[in-house]
Amino acid sequence: GANIDPAEYPLAMTPNDPGFHDLSGIKGGPRVNATFVTLARNSDVWEIAKSIRQVEDRFNRRYNYDWVFLNDQPFDDTFKKVTTSLCSGKTHYGLIGEEHWGFPDFIDQEKAKKVREDMKERKIIYGDSVSYRHMCRFESGFFFRQPLMMNYEYYWRVEPSVELFCDIHYDPFRFMHENGKKYSFVLSLYEYIETIPTLWDSVTKFMKNHPEHIAEDNSMGFLSDDGGKTYNKCHFWSNFEIGSLSWLRSKAYIDYFESLDRDGGFFYERWGDAPVHSIAAALMLPKDQIHFFNDIAYYHVPFTHCPTGEKLRTDLKCHCDPKNNFDWKGYSCTSRYFEVNGLEKPEGWQDQTD
Ligand code: GDP
Ligand code: MN
Repeated sequence: GANIDPAEYPLAMTPNDPGFHDLSGIKGGPRVNATFVTLARNSDVWEIAKSIRQVEDRFNRRYNYDWVFLNDQPFDDTFKKVTTSLCSGKTHYGLIGEEHWGFPDFIDQEKAKKVREDMKERKIIYGDSVSYRHMCRFESGFFFRQPLMMNYEYYWRVEPSVELFCDIHYDPFRFMHENGKKYSFVLSLYEYIETIPTLWDSVTKFMKNHPEHIAEDNSMGFLSDDGGKTYNKCHFWSNFEIGSLSWLRSKAYIDYFESLDRDGGFFYERWGDAPVHSIAAALMLPKDQIHFFNDIAYYHVPFTHCPTGEKLRTDLKCHCDPKNNFDWKGYSCTSRYFEVNGLEKPEGWQDQTD
């Protein structure tokens, strides 16, 4: 295992790239300290089973990374049996403590309740849900410091009912590690403003109080069209994430989360963990530490990321319809990401704009 030299196994992205080695038979080849992580309820068992099966078939059966499952209720035997049988790596099951899943004492319960009633009337998605708010706050500020997660340096978030459409021939964790990447995405879009009306005010306050945490070469251009005055609502979709746990556990990120949390928007509005993570990454990481995985093909209702480039799709045995690729359509922010980073869009993007 550890005596295999990573240099002998360069990161080749497809079987046709020079230096490609199929790591299948090489148990214990170069590995990164990383885990899959899933937050789920017991009732999600069959939907997460589908997700795990695809992640294993397309990638992890050759790498056997661990999988951490987290829940605010104890996992039942069926959940543990089914998921353990499907995962090729070790599985771990964690119960989330009340201090990470509930109302902090500085929240005015009456005010929060009125907000939920009002959002219900206005038919805002999940607007009346208490558990959804706990979930978003947990994913924003606590998943990466659960005791089980403290053993790892990188995570890959997997939700129930997602799909992977292409083979993954290299180790994305290793890619992140070797290239100094801290955060990654496959889909980006605009947030519903009704769920985050004052999030940007809160972020602005944080930036003023903590200029030391703002990266010099940041991605403000991804978040704002007027140099930071207003938020354009662009965010990375956080139901897929491969990222650095050390970064989320850094003083910068914790200061950011605590500042936002104090302002109460997880309960007085319905702040999602997607804009919260995305804004953090865009402001506190240098541009080149955020990565777009064109070659990881992904679906979470209702959006698909199907890799741009016909050769790539056939090399990777993809089974997604390229017409469904969301990247270059009007409601995606991925074009903006490319522009901000001065990246050239992959060949064939023009055919997928509508
Ligand atoms: P959506 O993708 O925004 O529609 O939200 P989901 O319903 O998919 O929830 C996001 C993630 O949190 C999924 O992994 C869910 O399984 C998980 N989740 C949502 N609500 C709860 C909850 O109340 N308890 C637990 N344990 N997990 C939850
Ligand atoms: Mn989901």
